[in-house]
Amino acid sequence: MVKIEIDPGAGFCFGVEEVIKTAETRLRAGEVLYGLGDMVHNATEVKRLQELGLKTINHEQLTTLPPGKVLFRAHGEPPGTYQTAKDYGVEIIDGTCPIVSRLQKKIQKAYGEMNHETDQLVIFGKADHPETIGLLGQVNGDALVVSSVEDIAAIDPSKKVCLFSQTTMDPERFEEVEKALENYLSKNAGTSGIHHFKANCTVCGQMKKRKPGLSAFAGKYEVMLFVSGKNSSNGRMLYEYCLSLNPVTYWISGAEEVKKEWFEGHASIGISGATSTSRQQLESVLEKVKELTLT
Ligand code: SF4
Repeated sequence: MVKIEIDPGAGFCFGVEEVIKTAETRLRAGEVLYGLGDMVHNATEVKRLQELGLKTINHEQLTTLPPGKVLFRAHGEPPGTYQTAKDYGVEIIDGTCPIVSRLQKKIQKAYGEMNHETDQLVIFGKADHPETIGLLGQVNGDALVVSSVEDIAAIDPSKKVCLFSQTTMDPERFEEVEKALENYLSKNAGTSGIHHFKANCTVCGQMKKRKPGLSAFAGKYEVMLFVSGKNSSNGRMLYEYCLSLNPVTYWISGAEEVKKEWFEGHASIGISGATSTSRQQLESVLEKVKELTLT
């Protein structure tokens, strides 16, 4: 009998779970609902919501919408999007995760208290990620985005640095960037030798728990299936981590990609996923694996 188990720590993060519940409740009640961008970086889940009636729109379409309500996703939006919605009389349902909202306010406050001649704001994140676009919007785009240690060279070492992070980044990579930045600033501090640096690790607690959780789980199985959208940055990061813990790891988007030959000669299979992968998807992968290992 093959042992097949789902990682107990896997499933949607709190922010994504809430926004999906909101969409489901309203669609089931018969409301006309538009989603601004994909609600989650997960094609299977996006398709499921669209089948329930959610119409995905882009930012340009906000200005030409027929009557209906627009749901903002957990990643948040820049202030300009709220203004456009107001200008065009669009009714918003704000699904921004409260943790992201708090971070937006924190960044706004730090920026408001800065001396813009001598200080600079740096965000560790992905420049094209919706959350980072929303964070940049809090400061009119006046912040530098770094996504790796290599990007640090673009920071002006003569200015004070205040560092924040996109909530879904890898906490270990934040630490690497923080250390490298501290080094870079002290080496380039000029004749005074003085530099100023404030690091705010704003990676979400849900993200911080995922790697230790995966680390306790992935090594116990002969084969690991990691389930997530291929466009999820958190999914890619956790898949790569899973692969480093268990070299027999397959990255799949859903149950339909599972292959019988992966399990031949193996006695245990573990299933995990990103913070944008639902428990329901993990369970459908489990059912598929059961079916394939029984035949
Ligand atoms: S990762 Fe954390 S901050 Fe980001 S949406 Fe999920 S719960 Fe909210």
